[in-house]
Amino acid sequence: MSINTSKARQSTNVDDTLSINPVFVRPGEATDFNKFKLPAGPSLPETAYQIVHDEAILDGNSRLNLATFVTTWMDDEAKKLYAESADKNMIDKDEYPATAAIEDRCWRMLADLWNVPDTKDTIGTSTIGSSEACMLGGLALKRLWQHKRQAEGKSTEKPNLIMSAAVQVVWEKFCNYWDIEPRFVPVTPDHMVLDGFELEKYVDENTIGVVAILGQTFTGAYEPVKEIAKKLDEIQASTGFDIKIHVDGASGAMVAPFCQPDLEWDFRVERVNSISTSGHKYGLVYPGVGWVVWRNTKVMPESMIFHVSYLGGDMPTLALNFSRPGAQVLMQYYQFLRLGFEGYREVQQNSIDVATYLSSEIEKIGPFKLISRGDTIPVFAWILKDGETKNWSLYDLADRLRMKGWQVPAYPMADDLSDMTLQRVVVKVGLSRDLATALLADIKGETQFLESLQSPLPREAAASHFHH
Ligand SMILES: *Cc1c(COP(=O)(O)O)cnc(C)c1O
Repeated sequence: MSINTSKARQSTNVDDTLSINPVFVRPGEATDFNKFKLPAGPSLPETAYQIVHDEAILDGNSRLNLATFVTTWMDDEAKKLYAESADKNMIDKDEYPATAAIEDRCWRMLADLWNVPDTKDTIGTSTIGSSEACMLGGLALKRLWQHKRQAEGKSTEKPNLIMSAAVQVVWEKFCNYWDIEPRFVPVTPDHMVLDGFELEKYVDENTIGVVAILGQTFTGAYEPVKEIAKKLDEIQASTGFDIKIHVDGASGAMVAPFCQPDLEWDFRVERVNSISTSGHKYGLVYPGVGWVVWRNTKVMPESMIFHVSYLGGDMPTLALNFSRPGAQVLMQYYQFLRLGFEGYREVQQNSIDVATYLSSEIEKIGPFKLISRGDTIPVFAWILKDGETKNWSLYDLADRLRMKGWQVPAYPMADDLSDMTLQRVVVKVGLSRDLATALLADIKGETQFLESLQSPLPREAAASHFHH
């Protein structure tokens, strides 16, 4: 990174206060410092180290990557644990029974967090990420549908799954790999998320389920699970089809329980069969770990479970993979113990505060219109306002920011709205308010530059697109 760039950052950074991430503030310690005055008293070495370390990341590293949802920061104890347990294989439940028991505790904690009706009658597992977790949730829906159809002597040839056209690619993969017809509900300016609108047009006797996304990858918006369920109640009343929901809570399932506790999206909604999340997104663990939990043991078909014996007992496993790292599961347990409910709430709320601050400031810049604000998961997106012809696009702004080290991708919206270009920021635990201020200064500066262009920027033959 050039000296000029860092100078520019310093001079545009006028805030005197350095606020400290609640994740490592110890009880009794200050939550902010003045940048230009020697602090009156000492801090714990871990706290001081962390502050210096955080400031130094302007030198350029993965934390300037605002494209990814995946954890790019964990504390030293987590790293130590990672190094100590790097050799553990999750599938080896015989050799690593303690890790297996910890895995069990983790998904049970999540089941409880997501309000399963009976914490003793539930089933879940860790996975390599949300993709595997979604596939297992989807497969259970497929099996349940198959068993019911077979019992009725009906065909199981043509299963279909209903989802928004703005699903994450895993659902297209799931349908492709397991021969299920995907039924995409289009995104439109009035219905940017799946909200139950015209759902009756998609449901039939071959529908294995509906996917609801808690935290759409394009915008961060939540799909209203309760409203979707209500629409499915109406559909059941008129057609008799009893359609269940899998909630793809890759990011939101680790944010909503802490920051939007009154939002009913989880097992409180009776139609929710299963919920998946990425431990390595807002679960705050390095890649790769995911989780999936079912409402009860009845809705997780026994035929999907493989029984592994361990310590003379029975350890049921369900997974697409065999060997995979056990360290991530231990790190997840570490974070659960380390942060607890209140710690997770503070960390996620801090990210939401940074996201909403950024989005409101970006909205003020002029040419931008917000599509979301970062008040669901700490993710927001914006577009260029209609009706103004410009010499630049959001792809140009993404390029300009990349020159400064920031990765803030621009990409087309899904399907019917693919003419719409969005630019998105994902705020994670590593993006402090201070870092956000520096990003904002660069967005302002680069926008000003682009607005001052006298003629369009030269174009490549084909624009490179960001992939989710
Ligand atoms: C990230 C994401 C996935 C895929 O999760 P991985 O953990 O990367 O496998 C699936 N669905 C949604 C909504 C996501 O955001």
